[in-house]
Amino acid sequence: MTLPGAFNALKSSNIISWKSTGRLQQTLAGCIERSGKTLHSGEVSTVRIWPEYAGQGRYFVFQSKLIPASIVFAKESSLCTTLCKDGFRVRTVEHLLSALEAKGVDNCRIEIGNLDSENQEVEVPIFDGSASTWVEAIEQVGMKETLDQCGKTGEKLAPYLNEPVYVWKNDSFVAAFPSPKLQITYGIDFPQVPAIGRQWFSSAPLDDSFYEMHIASSRTFCIYEEVESMRNLGLIKGGSLENAIVCSASEGWLNPPLRFHDEPCRHKVLDLVGDLSLFACSGSQGVPVAHIVAFKGSHALHADFARCLSRTGTAVENSFAENIFIHSEAVNEN
Ligand SMILES: [Zn+2]
Repeated sequence: MTLPGAFNALKSSNIISWKSTGRLQQTLAGCIERSGKTLHSGEVSTVRIWPEYAGQGRYFVFQSKLIPASIVFAKESSLCTTLCKDGFRVRTVEHLLSALEAKGVDNCRIEIGNLDSENQEVEVPIFDGSASTWVEAIEQVGMKETLDQCGKTGEKLAPYLNEPVYVWKNDSFVAAFPSPKLQITYGIDFPQVPAIGRQWFSSAPLDDSFYEMHIASSRTFCIYEEVESMRNLGLIKGGSLENAIVCSASEGWLNPPLRFHDEPCRHKVLDLVGDLSLFACSGSQGVPVAHIVAFKGSHALHADFARCLSRTGTAVENSFAENIFIHSEAVNEN
């Protein structure tokens, strides 16, 4: 199978080899539309996800600005992952991107907006704090193989690790080791909150069905005693017992039951998949095929890891953005 031009942007290096997954690139079979309250701003926003050509990857459209779901546009932000381009920001993209990456929606156009048309910032709805709403929506509309703009099928590539790669800060780290299958092991430690304490979760080879059964429905968690200080920082204005599991240092879980006994730890895996999906390029897989081991990670550290992968000599094409708009308009009219 010959690779179309768009895939030439993916260059293997000593650290990463781009290899075929044996599958063709996919997109949605139809449009998804979901609206809901957002976690940090507390406003309501609407997301419409449209099918896209092979090789275009995933990207947001906000106020007519196109923002690729690429690590190139990820910006530092507290407690969520934000994409930013030309002053326009899309916040809390991680759960949506996690579902799209895990379900193999390799190419799509994600239109997002809220009622305030002047605002330069928008946020993806939080729903129940997990990725379930997105996974169910993807299943409802279905998937299809997608062609590139020349009418050719696009082979789906994935980044395979040849050597260990790691980033760390204080006692937190994200490390990845060569492995023929993707596997994620994640640890968290909250000694001051006994109901959470120290937990480890280790996935079996992380495919679509494992993700759906063991990861997708795990919800965002927060520590009750930290809620006030987060609110004072202007965060979690839309946070409630409906969109997060809340744990108190002294009282334990305030809104049981948990969906898994180690739900917080599984949610970190969900977040990691979403954040590393930003390494995807031109419809490839973003999460490297490796055994990834993380401990006490944050969105910022996950993003650092994705940046570290980008710096290994793998060319991440980021100049394609200006071209997408025209082609995706054509898809939507069909
Ligand atoms: Zn999360």
